[in-house]
Amino acid sequence: MDRALQDRAARGCDYHIHSDVSDGVLPVDALVARLAAHGIEEWALTDHDTVDGLPAAAQASSAHGLRLLPGIELSCTFNAHTVHVVGLAIDPGNRTLQGALQRLDAQRQSRAEQIAQRLSAAGVPEALAQTRRIAGHDRLTRTHFARMLVTQGYARDMKAAFQRHLADGKGAAVKSAWLPLEEAVAVIHAAGGIAVLAHPLRYARTHARRRRTVAAFAEAGGDAIELSTAAQAPAGAQDQLARYAVERGLLGSLGSDFHDPAQHWIRLGQLPPLPAPVTPIWQHARWPHSTPAASSAPLKKVARAW
Ligand code: AMP
Ligand code: MN
Ligand code: MN
Ligand code: MN
Repeated sequence: MDRALQDRAARGCDYHIHSDVSDGVLPVDALVARLAAHGIEEWALTDHDTVDGLPAAAQASSAHGLRLLPGIELSCTFNAHTVHVVGLAIDPGNRTLQGALQRLDAQRQSRAEQIAQRLSAAGVPEALAQTRRIAGHDRLTRTHFARMLVTQGYARDMKAAFQRHLADGKGAAVKSAWLPLEEAVAVIHAAGGIAVLAHPLRYARTHARRRRTVAAFAEAGGDAIELSTAAQAPAGAQDQLARYAVERGLLGSLGSDFHDPAQHWIRLGQLPPLPAPVTPIWQHARWPHSTPAASSAPLKKVARAW
């Protein structure tokens, strides 16, 4: 695709966003109003291991004139580490998907009980009940436990709550066996969707290790990888990853991973363009509708000013 067109199309797209149906803070209606106010035209709701927010998201999106891709972010385990795979343009009612979500839900429930037990042992009373109250539901993630620790005065802020208690290897972090990576890709495909490796720079510190995750994802049949994100990537790492993704035949997706207006580093509607060699995800054969800038008439040549 023409470079200028690719840059323009990146504006107003965001295919990785959370609501309070999982660990975002905004209810779907408020979220959609905020997306519209920030110039987003096309987006995907990608809550963790649940599709329950999609009907409300579809309704609010059509009221605001936004295009919605039904999405999800699946928790996976690869090499004993957690990896997240976003599914885009899925059929939320698909039975294979529903079966996987039921298993993930059971896993999440029992892990939440174990996290709460550890926090209780560390002197935080009523950890499960308090966290459920704050979440407003019982699909508890570590984000909800972190919010509870901040609200109850056990941690200064979210960063400290993770660093002290909830980050991998800390006292209240309980490992869980989520979906195997190959199964997550297969489940998304069974639901008619496009499988995207989420935030690839977050999994490891070295390029060699990141390559292993990306290679396994490509071998599992994955379609795309997030190469335009809101987080600041270390210099060169993004380009290195982009070249490798192209080599493995992966398309590039764009996602802010927005959870909370307090994430000041996320400027909604302003994701950077995909790195130059990457083919954008909307070129995928199963992409459901054409993205505005991508579908607009070819750029007209402008009269030269000299
Ligand atoms: P869980 O699926 O329960 O393991 O929770 C994972 C969620 O916790 C992620 O989706 C992030 O939203 C959040 N999270 C993980 N690590 C951190 C961190 N270091 N700081 C803030 N949020 C984090
Ligand atoms: Mn999250
Ligand atoms: Mn994630
Ligand atoms: Mn996410």
